[in-house]
Amino acid sequence: MFSAERERSASERREELKEVLAQARGCVRCSELAATRKTVVFGAGNADAELMFVGEAPGASEDEQGLPFVGRAGKLLDQLLGEIGLIRGDVFVCNVLKCRPPGNRDPLPIEIENCQEYLLRQVALIQPTVICTLGNFSTKLLRGDPTGITRLHGQPEVRVIGSRAVRLYPIYHPAAALYTPRMLETLREDFARLPELLALGAPEQPEPSEQPEPSELPEPPDPPEQPPSVPEAETRPAGPGSGPAEVDQLGLF
Ligand code: URA
Repeated sequence: MFSAERERSASERREELKEVLAQARGCVRCSELAATRKTVVFGAGNADAELMFVGEAPGASEDEQGLPFVGRAGKLLDQLLGEIGLIRGDVFVCNVLKCRPPGNRDPLPIEIENCQEYLLRQVALIQPTVICTLGNFSTKLLRGDPTGITRLHGQPEVRVIGSRAVRLYPIYHPAAALYTPRMLETLREDFARLPELLALGAPEQPEPSEQPEPSELPEPPDPPEQPPSVPEAETRPAGPGSGPAEVDQLGLF
């Protein structure tokens, strides 16, 4: 028997993802991040993607624009995607933290804990086959283990995230590879294996257990005020001057 989560259509799951986005936009669980962020960078791309990338946290450009990986690391991500015949619209890209840590400091353990429910709900709703963790923070979080990326990169393994089995594939973070040619070469080699990993299809799913789905977990506290509504894909303002609050972070593709 399949869980209700698995039976839902892509459009129903997408609608629920928009609700999670609205909750995240009003999130004040990390008071420092809530006070210093310009936008909540929830993630963007194909809400029914087979391939999901999970980075670390938004930087300054991402915080400005409300979209993940739009700075130099993002340009490299786009280039590597292009080399395997993919574009952003084929994948979903997000981060462990949805808010920028001030001064680009590392995410704090309490911030990772506060934010992880959003990531788990994204995984449960998008239902990717492959999750590519970019760098240490997402790899350690989703493996639940402190082993670092240097030891793990390029080695796919089946892991259960929430209630879904996925092919977890840790690779170096593009930001780290920007300055180290050897690391960039390794990242490119690891990236080149993504098509064959995707071709394997979804791993066998575990039997539904008594464990609650992430969507059934307690909801985050209500936002203090009405969050901005999420515009429909068709009405997304695309021209210059559209402010971050107007960006449709799910309807891009
Ligand atoms: N680095 C990340 O981990 N995420 C971003 O969105 C940008 C840079």
